[in-house]
Amino acid sequence: LHLLGLSEILAVVGVIASLVYLVSFFGIAFVQSIVSCHDEEDEFLLSAPLGDCRRAAGIRREALRRITGRALEGLPLDGFDYASILGQCCELPVGYVQLPVGVAGPLVLDGREHYLPMATTEGCLVASTSRGCKAIAQSGGATSVVLRDGMTRAPVVRLPSARRAAELKAFLQEPNNFENIALVFNRCSRFARLQAIQCALAGRNLYMRFSSSTGDAMGMNMVSKGVENVLGYLQNDFQDMDVISISGNFCSDKKPAAVNWIEGRGKSVVCEAVIKEEVVKKVLKTNIPALVELNMIKNLAGSAVAGSLGGFNAHASNIVSAIYIATGQDPAQNVESSHCITMMEAVNGGKDLHVSVTMPSIEVGTVGGGTQLASQAACLDLLGVKGASLESPGANARRLAAIVAGAVLAGELSLLSALAAGQLVQSHMKYNRSAKDSPKLPPE
Ligand code: ADP
Repeated sequence: LHLLGLSEILAVVGVIASLVYLVSFFGIAFVQSIVSCHDEEDEFLLSAPLGDCRRAAGIRREALRRITGRALEGLPLDGFDYASILGQCCELPVGYVQLPVGVAGPLVLDGREHYLPMATTEGCLVASTSRGCKAIAQSGGATSVVLRDGMTRAPVVRLPSARRAAELKAFLQEPNNFENIALVFNRCSRFARLQAIQCALAGRNLYMRFSSSTGDAMGMNMVSKGVENVLGYLQNDFQDMDVISISGNFCSDKKPAAVNWIEGRGKSVVCEAVIKEEVVKKVLKTNIPALVELNMIKNLAGSAVAGSLGGFNAHASNIVSAIYIATGQDPAQNVESSHCITMMEAVNGGKDLHVSVTMPSIEVGTVGGGTQLASQAACLDLLGVKGASLESPGANARRLAAIVAGAVLAGELSLLSALAAGQLVQSHMKYNRSAKDSPKLPPE
């Protein structure tokens, strides 16, 4: 009967659907091929012929259970729109991870209020950021400036000699050539506008760091397309140019690199506030000289001692990661997006505290990637920056970058205050250590 059923299915939906059938009823080898198959094949094998992404995820999960003997209990299957990630966000889905989203704020920034969605499992983080927001709000709010806005991609090409690589560099830097190159580059999207090409040589290899505005998209795909256009165009004049890779790591994406820290990548933002003495005392439970000294010895000198690259802060990455995950950003870009120098000084005759964060590489978008998924779009909506800005393309993404910097400012204020007041361990024991984690000690 099974064989009969199989041949019927073969006749109707072909070899692909028959594999699905076999997964359900027969050999482990088929099960393994379904689980480990390549992403495009998978769409073809399961989601496409089934026309039901949820069912495909269920079959994949059952296959995994048969191979591993583990049922993935606790990893939910239902309650997620698998069609929304097909061909866009995640291949071979078998479920989804649940993460709590807390809300901090309101953050008063440039005269507007924002409630900050933060996806995290670190106790204290949301509460602490909220305390920083309260200190900022009670002092009249923070202000931000977006200093530059440009995503980068740097292909590497090899020429027959270093002299020839230098000729290409000179060609790219000739203003007339740049105009033509920009025309070719900008064809990749109505939102892309080439700003600059920064060149570096290593022997006969040339690294060209293209920088472009990308509207409300984070922009990696857009800029990569533009770079591809330009490489094709350059090949006309430099037929001896060998394209080694569309990305030569001088971009630099998802890796610590001085080029991002110094030149910036994505949005470069500075955010500042003047915190009143009584707020430092009542809300932050410390005093201005203690904060200024701690910032100097820890964030500046301490990070210098550690040989830090862009890490002149207390915990920018905590806030960046939580907001990135909540709003559908690429969390791997936390590496350079968290570059931050925190400055603190006493002002107004020592009565107030001037605090600022300078973050040169905030890589965010409000369209593309994971931003269109329901949960992430809801969080962007809460911030008032969902989707494309119709009046001024790019304005939503820039605002999101400013909010990230404002949230980091709040986080820095609160954590440094806790450290200055010696409260860190107590508050973590209260909010970040559940009774379940504690070993049961015998009564004394
Ligand atoms: P990324 O480069 O961040 O991965 P993509 O370039 O893949 O993003 O996606 C951006 C898409 O959204 C493009 O197709 C672009 O045409 C479209 N789009 C619509 N409105 C905007 C906007 N305001 N800014 C940027 N892109 C937009």
